[in-house]
Amino acid sequence: MPRIPLVDLAASYARHRDAIDAAIRRVLAETRFILGPEVGEFESAFAAFCGTRHAVGVASGTAAIHLSLAALGVGPGDEVALPAHTFAATAEPVTWLGARPRFVEVDAETGGMDPDALKAVIDRVRAVVPVHLYGLPVDLDAIGALATAAGVPLIEDAAQAHGAEFVRADGSVVRAGAYGRVGCFSFYPGKNLGAFGDAGAVTTADPALADTIRRLADHGRATKYEHLVVGYAARLDTLQAAVLTAKLTTLRESNQRRRELAAAYRSRLDGVGDLVLPVEPANRRGVYHLFVVRTRHRDGLLAYLREAGIGAGVHYPVPLHLQPAYAALGYRAGDLPVTEAWARECLSLPIYPELTEEQLETVVSRVRAYFERV
Ligand SMILES: *Cc1c(COP(=O)(O)O)cnc(C)c1O
Repeated sequence: MPRIPLVDLAASYARHRDAIDAAIRRVLAETRFILGPEVGEFESAFAAFCGTRHAVGVASGTAAIHLSLAALGVGPGDEVALPAHTFAATAEPVTWLGARPRFVEVDAETGGMDPDALKAVIDRVRAVVPVHLYGLPVDLDAIGALATAAGVPLIEDAAQAHGAEFVRADGSVVRAGAYGRVGCFSFYPGKNLGAFGDAGAVTTADPALADTIRRLADHGRATKYEHLVVGYAARLDTLQAAVLTAKLTTLRESNQRRRELAAAYRSRLDGVGDLVLPVEPANRRGVYHLFVVRTRHRDGLLAYLREAGIGAGVHYPVPLHLQPAYAALGYRAGDLPVTEAWARECLSLPIYPELTEEQLETVVSRVRAYFERV
């Protein structure tokens, strides 16, 4: 166990213990483990948090993407635009539905989908799935305009971006998951809003689409034994919903704390070695699910920090287009040079709301010490 972990779930539980324990006891007393009242309570609270009309609780972030694509009719023969610099779950559901991932280059500064690269493929794809990577929204106006002009749905992978904000050209503020046709959220334990197991949600303004996704997640049924379509077993657990409602009350302040820690890292690491620090364009407010720096000395720094008891990570070391799982798509090294540079150079430093100033100072001093040696 590193002295300063990349993420500290024990500290998070300690901060919410009373509320979580009470919520779990309530569910245990009711024993309505499947679609109990806590699921609807959480959906309403989460929709309000995101500024969307509907939120549908589902089994995971992966399920959120899968059900969204299925509900929007993506199927065999279709192509879906998505980045390769992301977690595998952005792409897997595309493949499950018989469609083909079309990997789109990312922006050199932010690591998010590059609208210019999307422009080149928008006419051949059936849907667009940008990822608000590390908690920073992509350029939603640019990507949204392309998707709207092409008549294809925008599916936000907001698995890392609960509460992140984007300022539209007209000055109005929209939260991650409330801009596109749907937003897909993960509540994997280490995410900004984390359950005690797998959990996820889909957000949308469209009531019919919300109904379709809700039905697909619950065996396609209209009533207990009437199945309108072939669905999935992908509901949100009552217990997880209860935990999530308890933790949602502090999400705003937790995100604010992450932003303060990110600002502290930025000011203390500025100019150290060849580090490139995360940028935040003026029209976006990130929620720093991860604090990701770039350096040509990534592997050396990673080993040095781990040796020093600091839980640094790499998100993600191998882009999806070069993964063995996607060899059949025929991509080669060099096809997405900006993506590949991110994969070579990115390094995640510990960031979570309970990280103390002293811990952050320790991380900073170790990073500085490394660059004094090289
Ligand atoms: C975590 C994550 C997912 C998948 O979420 P799960 O809840 O683990 O299924 C999808 N996309 C991104 C970008 C993620 O970080």
